[in-house]
Amino acid sequence: MRATGLAVDGSAAGARPDPLAAVLERIADAATLAGLDDGLHQMIAMPERVLEVAVPVRRDDGRIEVLRGWRVHHDTSRGPGKGGVRFHPLVDAREVTALAAEMTVKCAVVDIPFGGAKGGVAVDPGTLSLGELERLTRRYTYDVASLLGPERDVPAPDVNTDGRVMAWIMDTMSMLRGQAVPGVVTGKPLAIGGSHGHVGATSTGVVQCVGAIFARLGLDVAGARAVVQGYGKVGAPLVYLLTSLGMRVVAVEDVSGGVYNPAGLDPAALSAHVGRAGAVVGFAGGDVLAPGELFRLDCELAVPAALDGAITAEVAEHLGARVVVEAANGPTVPEADDVLDRRDVVVVPDVLANAGGVTASYFEWVQARQGYPWEPDLVASRLHASMERAFEATWERAGQLGVSLRRGAVVLGIERVAEATRLRGLFP
Ligand code: GLU
Repeated sequence: MRATGLAVDGSAAGARPDPLAAVLERIADAATLAGLDDGLHQMIAMPERVLEVAVPVRRDDGRIEVLRGWRVHHDTSRGPGKGGVRFHPLVDAREVTALAAEMTVKCAVVDIPFGGAKGGVAVDPGTLSLGELERLTRRYTYDVASLLGPERDVPAPDVNTDGRVMAWIMDTMSMLRGQAVPGVVTGKPLAIGGSHGHVGATSTGVVQCVGAIFARLGLDVAGARAVVQGYGKVGAPLVYLLTSLGMRVVAVEDVSGGVYNPAGLDPAALSAHVGRAGAVVGFAGGDVLAPGELFRLDCELAVPAALDGAITAEVAEHLGARVVVEAANGPTVPEADDVLDRRDVVVVPDVLANAGGVTASYFEWVQARQGYPWEPDLVASRLHASMERAFEATWERAGQLGVSLRRGAVVLGIERVAEATRLRGLFP
């Protein structure tokens, strides 16, 4: 349960862009901009603990399969660890650690009293039956239970996990404790202590950032063209929300392929198609988009809402959008930042743009601890106010330093984490 076995120097990158190297590079840059001394920088950059577990799961045919799982606490100086659990075949220790570090920065940027954590299991959930998924979730929860708790670390949905999975985590933790523990996870169904407004909160925050950045840049939202990569929990509501702002979502892509319609895709028809077919490909309301074309399309807004590493330096060189608002975690590699800066493409970074989800999680955690559910309007207005404050603070910090919004956001987050770390001092 210690971080010492894990290289955190950014080495060991494989063919795929290394997400941990990217986050550490950005934290190091922010530490320099913030004038942090080396010790404080190291305290913030190194994950507090990395727990790797073997998760044996009995398949429906009786076979036992052993999967790898992780839960990482990156930094808990501002509060309990917070961050999702993802089930994906490419999950590994470096990715989970990178995502936990992103959560540290993100929670600080939106100024909620949480640190950064993340979890994952290397598995393709599409290959599991419902029973297998439940057994995997419960065994993984048991294996990492020593790290979890309303005051320690609070998981939430992430890639390929949802309210149902959160309900199993909550139930497993409650069975272990002998009492209902609703504050141990967020993103739960309403019937067991979930919050109004949690579903769709990430997308709502992304769209608020789109409105804010377009206003700052003097761009018209109405009639503007947008492309969205990803049609999952975040991407699908985004297509609706961007269209309802008056934008034309001209292209959408998921793992199956992409569709393109210069007049704007019909969100309801696309959603109905994906409901039936299970994927974007084959949608009759648009033309087939060739692989790699989405980000090349001439448009005002690009929203990556899938996995990390989507915008490489090469993609950035040919990006057709004027503005990128990052709904996914880590979609842009650091080399692409330089290209985008040179090409005057404005990026609203993930740690700000997608922070609506964890902000709604914070509200859910507060409600669970109060035992007092909030009205939907209260959740919506507080979410709006938090995102507005975070956007303003990021804009201001970036402006003071004369740097990109990404660098400004990471500095803002790191300064807040550093203040907490300094105030708490060094134990023993
Ligand atoms: N998975 C989401 C994120 O990456 C939400 C995390 C949470 O609510 O804890 O921000």
